[in-house]
Amino acid sequence: MSAKYVFVTGGVVSSLGKGLAAASIGCLLESRGLRVNLMKFDPYLNVDPGTMSPFQHGEVFVTNDGAETDLDLGHYERFTHAPLSRDNNLTTGRIYEQIILKERRGDYLGKTVQVIPHVTNEIKNSMRKVSSNGADVTIVEIGGTVGDIESLPFLEAIRQMRQELGRENTVFVHLTLVPWIAAAQELKTKPTQHSVKELLSIGIQADILLCRCDRALSREMKQKIAAFCNVEERAVVGAKDVPTIYEVPLGFAQEGVDALILKYLHKEAPEANLTKWRELVGHCYHPKDEVSIAVVGKYVEYEDSYKSLKEALTHGAVSQSLRLNLAWIEAEGLESKTPDDRSYEFQLEGFDGILVPGGFGKRGIEGMLNAIRYAREKKVPYFGICLGMQTACIEFARNVCGLKDANSSEFDPAAQHRVIYKLRELLGVEEMGGTMRLGAWTCILQEDSLASRAYGGATEISERHRHRYEFNREYEALLVGGGLRISGSTPDGTYVEIIELPGHPYFLGCQFHPEFKSKPLEPHPLFREFVAASYRNRLGRLSSESVALAAFSNALSS
Ligand code: GLN
Repeated sequence: MSAKYVFVTGGVVSSLGKGLAAASIGCLLESRGLRVNLMKFDPYLNVDPGTMSPFQHGEVFVTNDGAETDLDLGHYERFTHAPLSRDNNLTTGRIYEQIILKERRGDYLGKTVQVIPHVTNEIKNSMRKVSSNGADVTIVEIGGTVGDIESLPFLEAIRQMRQELGRENTVFVHLTLVPWIAAAQELKTKPTQHSVKELLSIGIQADILLCRCDRALSREMKQKIAAFCNVEERAVVGAKDVPTIYEVPLGFAQEGVDALILKYLHKEAPEANLTKWRELVGHCYHPKDEVSIAVVGKYVEYEDSYKSLKEALTHGAVSQSLRLNLAWIEAEGLESKTPDDRSYEFQLEGFDGILVPGGFGKRGIEGMLNAIRYAREKKVPYFGICLGMQTACIEFARNVCGLKDANSSEFDPAAQHRVIYKLRELLGVEEMGGTMRLGAWTCILQEDSLASRAYGGATEISERHRHRYEFNREYEALLVGGGLRISGSTPDGTYVEIIELPGHPYFLGCQFHPEFKSKPLEPHPLFREFVAASYRNRLGRLSSESVALAAFSNALSS
């Protein structure tokens, strides 16, 4: 039986949510008992997003095998159980890298190497490689917008795939925009017509149109789009803006997207079971209470740079029927002007929990250290991720163990006490890329620790990494003597993976990035427990405030 593909393209403008659309289609097909693959082609020339600025490109999502990928792969993992690796995200840069390598090796036997057929063949082979695992459907997202020069080879490749595999094995889904024009008080279909025509001019007739709009598409609108774009009326899907992304699969299901895809693919499958998604969306709209978390980081003005983190916190909150109030605090703004300046405390008051996420470079570090000190001293739940674990160790070394110039060699290579350092530094390796600890590593948890309790008593876990620096075990005795606990390490004991503070309501730092493994229906234990501790802190604070208020009003009335 031939592999079946759903190709997702986008038109009119970027940022319409192609990744989310692809992930939601995957989610629906899975909920019908099918096995899916998801993959994305990015038309830019960078070999991977690993060295791209988080401000420009958003978060770098890391897969188990240590690939640094586009953040859309995060959506794929959160919405499905598709196995993802470096094969599931390819850029033009990677494709050309592979081709040039082959050319240098002489694999092309002296032939002229060209975009068609060599580049398109390479693209098609990479799709076949992903679909060869026997999944029922492979969903392929083509990055960029139809009409871009860069995406042409990818579009040509999927056109050829239809030619080779036939209609019953390929579906073209096109995401487009139907804007509301205030002056005319009308939704306009022209941009969609143009985009579909642009696709047609390169030989691709869209089968299903996902029309992003800010209000419902009327029957007449759908008929008009269907007629002009040459698709069935029921293939014109109103993809209306929704307050929570978890509602997207439900909206698609209601519009019959999964049923239509299966019809076009000549595939039978049971009805979708979406009960759990409905419950989840119910919690989003009708939470029993709320919790507020401050994220103290350095790329906070661009939330996409902490995409998975935001999602993981939301999963932790929604699973406990709590609304998440997230405050993004720029770490630099928490720095002290003088050694005794504690004015930053005002900015941190009233939050139920504090989190310092991952990051690179020196900027904002002193502000993070202040936030951590505040959380540690005031017993506010603290969760430090990667850089947030490293800064927690530095803060502890400085303010509890008295090592005033404790630092990471990333921020001060000449520091006397390099509590965080680069193990590989000793080997004299210094280059961009290649030196990071990336992807899944096993971690052994100490019994009866906060970490092992969070993981349900597990003694061995696996989590994903993306960093260069590590805890320096030369300082272990001193910090442990001061009260810090090392509750997770790699099996050979080389790397420290988790630190925590016994006696504190919740103070935990991990060298890995747990946010990459959290799913809406399977919230990550460390996020769930951090949110739970923050909520307990909130209840405690509110009840002591109301006791104080009652005492105050009693005093006034007596
Ligand atoms: N900059 C730190 C390191 O390279 C932390 C990285 C991160 O938070 N992902 O080790």
